[in-house]
Amino acid sequence: MPATPELKARAAAAVEAARAEIVDLSARIHANPEPAFEEQRAAAWVAEAIARHGYAVELPAGRLATAVRGRLAGGKGVKGPRIGILAEYDALPGLGHGCGHNTMAASGVGAAIALAALRDAFAGEVVFLGTPAEERGSGKQFMLDDGLFDGLDAALLFHPGDRDMVGSILLASEDVDVTFTGRAAHAAGEPWEGKNALDAVVLLLQAVGLWRQQLPQHARVHGIVVEGGTAANIIPDRATARFMIRSTDQAYFEAMRERFRALVAGAAMMADVAGEVVFSGGSTTMKDNPVLAGLWTANMEAAGRDDEGVDPEHIGSSDMGNVSLVLPTIHPTLAICDHGVPWHSIESRDAAATPRADETTLLAATLVAQTALDLLVDPSLVVDAWRAFRGEA
Ligand SMILES: [Zn+2]
Ligand SMILES: [Zn+2]
Repeated sequence: MPATPELKARAAAAVEAARAEIVDLSARIHANPEPAFEEQRAAAWVAEAIARHGYAVELPAGRLATAVRGRLAGGKGVKGPRIGILAEYDALPGLGHGCGHNTMAASGVGAAIALAALRDAFAGEVVFLGTPAEERGSGKQFMLDDGLFDGLDAALLFHPGDRDMVGSILLASEDVDVTFTGRAAHAAGEPWEGKNALDAVVLLLQAVGLWRQQLPQHARVHGIVVEGGTAANIIPDRATARFMIRSTDQAYFEAMRERFRALVAGAAMMADVAGEVVFSGGSTTMKDNPVLAGLWTANMEAAGRDDEGVDPEHIGSSDMGNVSLVLPTIHPTLAICDHGVPWHSIESRDAAATPRADETTLLAATLVAQTALDLLVDPSLVVDAWRAFRGEA
């Protein structure tokens, strides 16, 4: 038996009944931005909110101090589909919630609250996962490795954006930390004794800039200088930089890593310093699940929102890609602002704390809850989703 319109209306009403709680959580997280792996307050607030609604909560869950897991059995028994509701809450260093993860955290909590209110309607289990470190570090990969996604049949979340978009193209991505080590010397007294580590960073940035000319449309490389010396009269013996490399083509991405390594080696050789490269926090391309996407689309259209389609010029990365390679996953976007607002900007940060963002957060909570209900009350859809995941007709 599929989820009835009446049950879905009850999900919307349950979200509406929790309006104040959801909107307040979004505002609090927005006003207290915490970067990747340091989301102590957000994790505590999220955990507290779902515990209040009957979830058995673990904080921390697994090795990450700010990861949360909350579990709630259906009123008709725990045997049945196990549906994951995901929530990110990390912010961007120096900017705040320029990716709007406060709205995602609040909508995930809102969906969890609605499902708790409707638990008598289903068998199975709702598993809420608070997932740290999306902007850097790919926290979800740690949670996958810790077994926190084991046994789940679907992973659902909503990401805010400047358009309504069901699908997503994600670039494979990796964080790259580069350290050059030279020899310090008095920059005026005996510069010939020095080996300038900052020179290597400058050369690397130039090499990356030239490399970019030959990169295909689907590839990206970008970075910042983290440490460039300590005083103008000391030749820097240490300089560090942080980059990200990305591509929608997993195979090409692997080749980019090797090329980047070569650029670092070349810069080190030219500056006569040592160079070290550390890759970490890898995220993969996305495997969208058409069955889950179809359910989301139907719920979204019933709410009067249409899929505007993926804009191939505006693509990013997410550790939801990693999840999507393990179980049926979707990563839909709903607009919290007008088209053309640049993401990871002051404008997008401010857009994430407006009445319009709040309304979208509430709608997203409803759509996530309704899509979860579709799966919970009709396990044949879970079978279909896994079939699609495996590439079977
Ligand atoms: Zn984001
Ligand atoms: Zn982001």
